[in-house]
Amino acid sequence: MTQDLPSRRIAAVQAVHARLQSFFDEARYFERYGDPRYLFMAMGDPHELPPEGFVEAIREKLTPERPDWFAYKTSVPAAQEAVARSLDEWRGLPFVPEDIAITTGAFGAIAAAFTALLDPGDEAIISLPPWFSYEPMLVARSAVPVKVPTRPDFDLDLEAIERAITENTRLVIVNTPNNPTGRVYPPETLEPLAAILTRASRRIGRTIFILADEPYARLVFDGRAFPSPSAYYPNTLITYSYGKVLLTPGQRLGWLALPPTMPEDTRAALRTAILLAQVANGFGFPNAVMQYALPALDRLSIDLDVFQRRRDRLVSALRAAGYELHVPEGTFYLLPKSPISDDRAFCRRLGERGLYVLPGWVCEAPGRFRVVFTASDEMIERAIPIFAEVMAEVMAEVK
Ligand code: PLP
Repeated sequence: MTQDLPSRRIAAVQAVHARLQSFFDEARYFERYGDPRYLFMAMGDPHELPPEGFVEAIREKLTPERPDWFAYKTSVPAAQEAVARSLDEWRGLPFVPEDIAITTGAFGAIAAAFTALLDPGDEAIISLPPWFSYEPMLVARSAVPVKVPTRPDFDLDLEAIERAITENTRLVIVNTPNNPTGRVYPPETLEPLAAILTRASRRIGRTIFILADEPYARLVFDGRAFPSPSAYYPNTLITYSYGKVLLTPGQRLGWLALPPTMPEDTRAALRTAILLAQVANGFGFPNAVMQYALPALDRLSIDLDVFQRRRDRLVSALRAAGYELHVPEGTFYLLPKSPISDDRAFCRRLGERGLYVLPGWVCEAPGRFRVVFTASDEMIERAIPIFAEVMAEVMAEVK
């Protein structure tokens, strides 16, 4: 008997995951992945070896130093301490090690936050276009994603957020730097957002939290500062991943942090709730070796200058070929307009020439497509003429 499979919850997840799945299926993505004839610029995967020091940091912690080296580990205190000290320096606030949960990337941190905070029917506000995994993760917890538009320049639409708040609102997800738009929200946006949420929390009689999803916080360009929503709104949970800054997402390492400005009683309640959420989510802690290596890994990064150069190379080449696109302030994504309104059809044409990018249809950015510049210089140079050829072909057809 398989008729009652999958569970209703997973059937709902399947429905909201269907667009991403159909992209993978149509492109035969995983079957072809790694084949040097194709150019993979749809997903944020590495195409080069990890930063210097990455392997050494892990190797150094492989040999057991005590009998309990490989015992069950929740958050390892030395890792919590390292993150707290790193955040002190970075954010200028005295973070407390106990308020840092070490997680399996930002995915694990977001999952823990959702499980700890959301009851069935609770609403989480998401600004469009969003990272495509918030919705399945909310639906898996029977929470309700409430989608609001952003402004034409992709900054948050504060009025739309305010209008979307109801008595069931529990969370506002603020992903900065943003995937897929590359926007870094400025203090001029975050400050009034905090005022709106403070007022609304008072009005509905319970705290509305911000989930500040910041896995790209260290990937900002042009020497710009990174303002975190947590600096403006104390009831913020920060989620982070080393998968982006080290371009090693398969190693599953990240954290969830509660800022020291959050009221002490809320922090105390959340500390316990997050620990239990991680256990209930399937003992969602990174493996012992990755946690021991964290203090060393926290000091490493991909070469930001190389990424900024790749961004600039692609932006100018795409513009020269006739594409319309803005310059991302952070992340490793470009979001050009598709020259035809059917972005799926356009991406299919690039795909026929072996170049994979993500149709905007998948991430609720209709009429656009996402290009990931984690590709090597060699791949980028091979991709540029394909972008130009397909644009020229499309232009000739519409004439
Ligand atoms: N949040 C955002 C906005 C992302 O883009 C991603 C990955 O693409 C994640 C969270 C999850 O990151 P990780 O896979 O490193 O846990």
